Amino acid sequence: MIFLKTPEEIATLKRANQLVGKTLAEVGKAIKPGITTIELDKIAEDFIRSNGATPGFLGYGGFPNTLCISVNENVVHGIPSSYALKEGDIVSVDCGTIVDGFYGDSAFTFCVGEVDEKVKRLLKTTREALYLGIEQAVEGNRIGDIGHAIQRHCESHGYSVVRDLVGHGVGKDMHEAPEVPNFGKKGQGVMLKEGMVIAIEPMINMGNKAVVFEKDGWTVRTIDHKPSAHFEHTVAIHQGKAEILSSFDFVDEVLKNK
Ligand code: MG
Ligand code: MG
Repeated sequence: MIFLKTPEEIATLKRANQLVGKTLAEVGKAIKPGITTIELDKIAEDFIRSNGATPGFLGYGGFPNTLCISVNENVVHGIPSSYALKEGDIVSVDCGTIVDGFYGDSAFTFCVGEVDEKVKRLLKTTREALYLGIEQAVEGNRIGDIGHAIQRHCESHGYSVVRDLVGHGVGKDMHEAPEVPNFGKKGQGVMLKEGMVIAIEPMINMGNKAVVFEKDGWTVRTIDHKPSAHFEHTVAIHQGKAEILSSFDFVDEVLKNK
């Protein structure tokens, strides 16, 4: 069942998602060699609570923390730990909030200090693919149009698209119908309608598309241990142009001044 949101509900979803964008920026400020991922998690939890909101991931399906932090070959759902970030790492930070009963969900992959040019290109291409997917997220298009745009862009650069994890509807639950794969065929899948709100979240691998699920029950990593990038926005479907409810503006501002 796909829940269509009213303009008032979309406004609430926007507040939840803007707070995620601001939280990602707070985390981005702190990212540097030596900081542990559990310290980043604490920064995010404190910031979300100080804004009167609730961390969306904490306790969700039993997840133990506020952020999913996935370093290098870890794709998504990494558990914050005593791991200290190292120069040259990339770190996907996925964050959720609940504001007035509605979820925010957005993710950004950061560089730790100087990162190999080849890996930077993976991040750039994944971020570009997210926005190409968002361009397709308009009323009258289909879910497959989004995945097709993402897949074509990433594969044309020699990267592979993770198949085992997908984007999703967002609302009063973090994961609602429909599923939003990052691969697909034009003109196939669910028709997009005004009022749908979806998270589009390409997970793109430098090497093989296959992933494995680690024994901690959460962490997903690439089978070949090559790096993976992850960028995510929550968007509302309208006629002509999607409305991006989350934002990388706060993060970009922090990274510009670093
Ligand atoms: Mg997410
Ligand atoms: Mg998501």
